[in-house]
Amino acid sequence: MDQKKISSTAAAIKKHRYFLISTHVNPDGDAFGSSLALKFMLEALGKKADIVVDSACPKELAFLPGTDKIIYKPELKQRKYDAVFCLDCGSYDRIGKVQKIAPKNAPIINIDHHETNTRFGAINWVDLNVCATAELILAMAEHFKIRISRQFAVCIYTAIVTETGHFSFSNTSLRSHMIAAEMIRYGVKPSIVSYGLVKNKTLSDLKLTAKVMGRIRVTKDGTTAWSSITADDLKNPRTVPGDSQEYLHHMVSLKGVHASILFRQTPEGTVKASARTDGTISASKLMLKFGGGGHPRAAGCTLKASLKNAQKRVLDAVKRMLGR
Ligand code: 5GP
Ligand code: MN
Repeated sequence: MDQKKISSTAAAIKKHRYFLISTHVNPDGDAFGSSLALKFMLEALGKKADIVVDSACPKELAFLPGTDKIIYKPELKQRKYDAVFCLDCGSYDRIGKVQKIAPKNAPIINIDHHETNTRFGAINWVDLNVCATAELILAMAEHFKIRISRQFAVCIYTAIVTETGHFSFSNTSLRSHMIAAEMIRYGVKPSIVSYGLVKNKTLSDLKLTAKVMGRIRVTKDGTTAWSSITADDLKNPRTVPGDSQEYLHHMVSLKGVHASILFRQTPEGTVKASARTDGTISASKLMLKFGGGGHPRAAGCTLKASLKNAQKRVLDAVKRMLGR
């Protein structure tokens, strides 16, 4: 753990009173888990904080304590924040419209674990060795010696579990298990978290999963799999796509496949691409070519292109990187 970064972040917390906390659009377990845990920690220190995100609450994360107080419409909140925390964001634009309400003169504290992080903050605490941003928030709480509440522990535990793919990805370590075990000591019930993460689908959600699975294509050489979610798929208001992880999970399980990509048409007319690799090629290097970023084995980008064109560009790049 980088003690200098812990100290500079702690100094910023001591100096300021009212914080804006934000995280990336399409938030995942680490994004919400680390943001909520940080808010609980700041409040325990007698500070004030608002979490503002440019996305609706994903239903698989709605069970997390404190999601009812998150502000999901950035334009409604113009407050005099003293400092801005950006959590789990590889670049500043990842907070979307929240950029508009972040006071220009407020320092940005960038806490993250993405190798592609652009160091956009006044403080840049970017640690590639942790399995999740939430690990850094826990380190901060330990620095301040705050009492770990069950609510705080649930947020940290959920972040670790989701970000390691339930202790299956390459970021799974002795430490990730140790932290999870420690959080259980603070009152987390693993089965309740799993229930919250999984048991939230409607029938139309499952039908969407079936559709996306039915569209999986694999290159002739068997190395690359892809599928798509179209704008049409989302016309039914009861259908809410899960996070990309959910769909990619199945493509990744295909024997011999090195790279899996999910293409998703957005309401803005762009295409969001999410990539997972087995380490043969770097997902973040692939996505950097298209202005995105992420981790070596999980990364994403947004393309201003038609679905067909986006697929062609990304799949061509994968082919070149695989040397085929
Ligand atoms: P997902 O594919 O599940 O959306 O994201 C996989 C990983 O890549 C996550 O760590 C996510 O934060 C990162 N990521 C996804 N999309 C982008 C993007 O457009 N830009 C950057 N910098 N990172 C992204
Ligand atoms: Mn993360």
